[in-house]
Amino acid sequence: MAENYDVIIIGSGPGGYVAAVRASQLGLKTAIVEREHLGGICLNWGCIPTKALLRSAEVLDHANHAKDYGLVLEGKMTADVTAVVARSRGVSARLNGGVGFLMKKNKVDVIWGEAKITKPGEIVVGKSSKPVVEPQNPVPKNVKGEGTYTAKHIIIATGARPRALPGIEPDGKLIWTYFEAMKPAALPKSLIVMGSGAIGIEFASFYRSMGVDVTVVEVMPTIMPVEDVEVTAIARKQLEKRGLKILTSAKITKVEKAADSLTAHVETADGKVQQITADRMISAVGVQGNIENLGLEAVGVKTDRGCVVIDGYGKTNIAGIYAIGDVAGPPMLAHKAEHEGVVCVEKIAGLPNVHATDKGKVPGCTYCHPQVASVGLTEAKAKEAGRDIRVGRFSFAANGKAIALGEDQGLCKVIFDKKTGELLGAHMVGAEVTELIQGFVVAMNLETTEEELMHTIFPHPTVSETMKEAVLDAYGRVLNA
Ligand SMILES: Cc1cc2nc3c(=O)[nH]c(=O)nc-3n(C[C@H](O)[C@H](O)[C@H](O)COP(=O)(O)OP(=O)(O)OC[C@H]3O[C@@H](n4cnc5c(N)ncnc54)[C@H](O)[C@@H]3O)c2cc1C
Repeated sequence: MAENYDVIIIGSGPGGYVAAVRASQLGLKTAIVEREHLGGICLNWGCIPTKALLRSAEVLDHANHAKDYGLVLEGKMTADVTAVVARSRGVSARLNGGVGFLMKKNKVDVIWGEAKITKPGEIVVGKSSKPVVEPQNPVPKNVKGEGTYTAKHIIIATGARPRALPGIEPDGKLIWTYFEAMKPAALPKSLIVMGSGAIGIEFASFYRSMGVDVTVVEVMPTIMPVEDVEVTAIARKQLEKRGLKILTSAKITKVEKAADSLTAHVETADGKVQQITADRMISAVGVQGNIENLGLEAVGVKTDRGCVVIDGYGKTNIAGIYAIGDVAGPPMLAHKAEHEGVVCVEKIAGLPNVHATDKGKVPGCTYCHPQVASVGLTEAKAKEAGRDIRVGRFSFAANGKAIALGEDQGLCKVIFDKKTGELLGAHMVGAEVTELIQGFVVAMNLETTEEELMHTIFPHPTVSETMKEAVLDAYGRVLNA
């Protein structure tokens, strides 16, 4: 007889494993199915290993600017890319093992293999189509195997994979996805990055720090197109100062491959076509949900543009089947996946006062140098939505801590509703902003107004003071500018 659970989760990324922990805390008998790596893309090939690579880049950048801080470093510091990659893979392996530990601690059964929903309440786990290739991410011990399993509630948390443009498909050799970009055997001399979203820009920033000649090609008029234009203009200037070449309103229409290089045909807004030759190219044109081979069509689960359609609690159109995380649509971010997982499971458990996920309050962070972080509406989106707004800005050039850090190029920008004082959006570029944005996220979540922010005491000297000054600026009360 099939083993029966209260909840079975398909996929152990941040959405899946966090949902499993919460389900177990709520007393639900829980199992998680994984076909490749505990921790999903985030821990193994996404958020975490990129941050480890970017940390190496940051240390290298600091070392090579030691003179600016009155320090003497004989010669130039260079990167041993094999060691840089090994450190990044080691960081991932540690967290991958950590997820295994969490499953055991919370008495969540791990089922190894590829899951398919056969009918509401039933899955069949078959042999994985993605055998483990990473020695750092072994199949954990004491897992359950192939077979039929039943559960009252099935949560799809199967994540996403790289999107490919027709004719410019990644081949793993000359055209990389994030998988190959994450662990290069050697550094290319030159690199084209197609797409300037968070993934593209983070890799562009990393490879530039490693000394690679990098050209970013973005089809939209600005880099990081979802961010506020003022913020991305500053980021672009700083990235270009570091030697990155950036083409916007530019489209790669064709790629010609040679033995160990490629030539991209780039069409710009004026209709001209230029050819750029480089050793390698990273295709970073977005991701698409893993909705295939899950039995969704047969069971009748509704999908739209490659993602499962859900309500604010993760419910699909079929009773007992839910979806969370990347497979349930944008924003495709780990913390959104985790939050959706918790909300979904708490609703299943019948907890009172469970709030639907509010996608308008999901922060976004890009860990390039300089960092970019935001939450809520951009100025353009606020105007588009017909909001009457007040905008405040504060430059890092007037912030004591930023100057002391030697990082005085940055901006904090806030957007308020003119009538109510509601904080509609906050946008930052500069040092440590990915850590700071959470202050605004908490404020938005508590429905804080400008008055409460102005009454809040920020520690001195910190870069966070730019946040208060930006708020004051919106109301004509800025103190240090
Ligand atoms: C290079 C890169 C950098 C990123 N950086 C950040 C960042 O800094 N911050 C951030 O918030 N987000 C970042 N992301 C995005 C983040 O990784 C995803 O949003 C997050 O991993 C989504 O979590 P998830 O649980 O929905 O799915 P995933 O993490 O994709 O996990 C899904 C899991 O399901 C498994 N699976 C799929 N199908 C089946 C099946 N049929 N049976 C069994 N198992 C299955 C997969 O093997 C996988 O382990 C980054 C992504 C990339 C690629």
